Amino acid sequence: MDFEDTPELAEFRAEAAAFLAAHAEPRRGDDRDWSRNAASTDPEVAEDFRRRCVEWQGLLYEHGWAGLTWPREFGGRGLTPAHQIVFNQEMARFDVASGFITAAQALVGPTIMQHGTDEQRARYLPPLLSGQEAWCQLFSEPGAGSDLASLATRAVRDGDEWVIDGQKVWTSSAQHADFGILIARSDPDAPKHKGITYFIVDMAAEGVEVRPLVQAQGVAHFNEVFLSGVRVPQANVVGEVGEGWRVARTTMRSESQMISGASQSTGFDAVIATARRTGATRDPILRQELARVYTNEAVLRWMGWRTQTAVMTGRYELALHGSLLKNFFTRALSHRVELALDMEGAEGTLGSDAEGDGFWQYQCLNQFASRIGGGTEEVHRNNLGEQVLGLPREPDDTRELPWKETRRS
Ligand SMILES: Cc1cc2nc3c(=O)[nH]c(=O)nc-3n(C[C@H](O)[C@H](O)[C@H](O)COP(=O)(O)OP(=O)(O)OC[C@H]3O[C@@H](n4cnc5c(N)ncnc54)[C@H](O)[C@@H]3O)c2cc1C
Repeated sequence: MDFEDTPELAEFRAEAAAFLAAHAEPRRGDDRDWSRNAASTDPEVAEDFRRRCVEWQGLLYEHGWAGLTWPREFGGRGLTPAHQIVFNQEMARFDVASGFITAAQALVGPTIMQHGTDEQRARYLPPLLSGQEAWCQLFSEPGAGSDLASLATRAVRDGDEWVIDGQKVWTSSAQHADFGILIARSDPDAPKHKGITYFIVDMAAEGVEVRPLVQAQGVAHFNEVFLSGVRVPQANVVGEVGEGWRVARTTMRSESQMISGASQSTGFDAVIATARRTGATRDPILRQELARVYTNEAVLRWMGWRTQTAVMTGRYELALHGSLLKNFFTRALSHRVELALDMEGAEGTLGSDAEGDGFWQYQCLNQFASRIGGGTEEVHRNNLGEQVLGLPREPDDTRELPWKETRRS
């Protein structure tokens, strides 16, 4: 691997570092950093985090540092992925975050760029990039998660509009969203992957009802969304009618890439600090596990470097399969948070009374967000079996049947 910047990238790095130094505080790596409050259970802290994310994204946009790889006509800079890597490396040294806006951009941006009309791109992409409009993803349903293509929310054409009825679930940030990307069944006579259409829904439209779902940690990160006779103009269809599955695959690919690239606040340093505090560094068994945390972190770093090399050199054959990255990342995460709780012993059973306001207790409950969201570990293993190992496809005798004849949960 060769990580030397080209002269052009070195110049860009210096420019990025100067911008960041002028507009942000260096990251201190402890609880003085606002950027680590992404998952706070305190409503005031959570709201403050949201506000700061919007402000930071607006500042990036205003100074031409948002969407570096996005085309210029949508407010980006039209630069290469290598520029984005360099900028992210520099930004990691500062106490800044774009939080939920990064997720919305990763899901909605590539989908509208690739499949949207010119009008949709012009209308929705710039405010998405500047963080002025927030989005949510209306895909999962009570009876359609891993087998998303069996979804039952109906879309019926009525002149120049579609009428949507159904229920979505696990919709992250729907309570803050201006728009949602939604997939619905527009042709129940077609096989399940064929009769789906992809829409942009105004979350303020009549008939959209958002009900928060409170998680084990006590926060309501996601919601149920009920859609009752919601009218969506034909102009809000993304891609062709009935081709929504193809469009949704673009969204889902970007989603698992985003999750495997996500940074976490629970690296080796945090685990070793707990080990020292609890005396676990003297326990031979726990020392083995600490070595595993260290090794996993090194492997993840090397995987990141390999991806970086693939991007920087244009040798995309070196890039790792997204499912491999996601599963390695989430398994390493769950190993280290569970180890930290083991090391705390009886203290580990406390809630927010435990050290650091229940930091590990929260992280332990929160691990499932990464392990389930963006496709479960089992589903990503299926992908690896089929797409990397060449194993036969998982049997599915409903694939070619008209959707209305399939059995659903
Ligand atoms: C933090 C978080 C945020 C989310 N945000 C959103 C969002 O914003 N919008 C949205 O639409 N959805 C969202 N989701 C939903 C997420 O996409 C689904 O939870 C996920 O796809 C799994 O679906 P499910 O929960 O219905 O589980 P199911 O599909 O019912 O799976 C149940 C269990 O069966 C296993 N399983 C299922 N099928 C197979 C198979 N073929 N082979 C082997 N095992 C299998 C699964 O691995 C799992 O263990 C979010 C989820 C989380 C955790």
